[in-house]
Amino acid sequence: THFGFKTVAKDEKAGMVANVFHNVAAKYDIMNDVMSMGIHRIWKRFTIDCSGVRPGHRVLDLAGGTGDLTAKFSRIVGEKGQVVLADINNSMLNVGRDKLRDLGIVGNVNYVQANAEELPFPDNHFDCITIGFGLRNVTDKDKALRSMYRVLKPGGRLLVLEFSKPIVEPLSKVYDAYSFHLLPKMGEIIANDGESYRYLAESIRMHPDQDTLKGMMEDAGFEQTKYFNLTGGIVALHRGYKF
Ligand code: SAM
Repeated sequence: THFGFKTVAKDEKAGMVANVFHNVAAKYDIMNDVMSMGIHRIWKRFTIDCSGVRPGHRVLDLAGGTGDLTAKFSRIVGEKGQVVLADINNSMLNVGRDKLRDLGIVGNVNYVQANAEELPFPDNHFDCITIGFGLRNVTDKDKALRSMYRVLKPGGRLLVLEFSKPIVEPLSKVYDAYSFHLLPKMGEIIANDGESYRYLAESIRMHPDQDTLKGMMEDAGFEQTKYFNLTGGIVALHRGYKF
């Protein structure tokens, strides 16, 4: 049946995403720096600056992977605050946990293996949720957004950092060439895994554009939603509040 087909396709996507991140976990950080020419650090910095997170806050870094955002939040929230790094993939979680411990980041960080679609946290729990380059990998994005809404405190904010749609045509062309040709080649050379990076390029192309994602956040209940285009819209940061 049609319904049956959809279920299979969903399982396939989830399985593929799991494989990709098991495969890339060990090389994830270096690939990030190479592929974005270090610019992902600026995108993450901007996310932190928009977060409004203060000492004592409780933050969820969802799809947190190797923990770049968690590390920054841990320093801001201090010993009275808490950061939860949640990710569906235990290989990514392990790499993240080791890296953060090496950096001396301990005490206020917890690691939780969880699916963004069914977050294992109480209602109204977090002051801020970030999901950095994670939402495009989630199978049921609407369900995940509703789950994030549920666990966010009233007054809290959600930040979605994700690849988006370049706002000018020439940039779009260059970017397509880059992601479909150069990116899998670099994946092949550095991580010995072209296939995973082909998936990543494809998932970027399929991801909803700025206004579509904004609408999805509103459908999940978020208010005062807006987005900031970064690097010409190659990436966008979406922000929404729960009131
Ligand atoms: N946030 C980190 C960063 O910006 O560097 C890691 C981003 S990495 C590209 C995407 C992460 O999303 C992976 O660690 C993957 O395991 C995780 N992920 C994929 N699907 C997920 C889901 N349904 N729930 C939670 N995490 C998921």
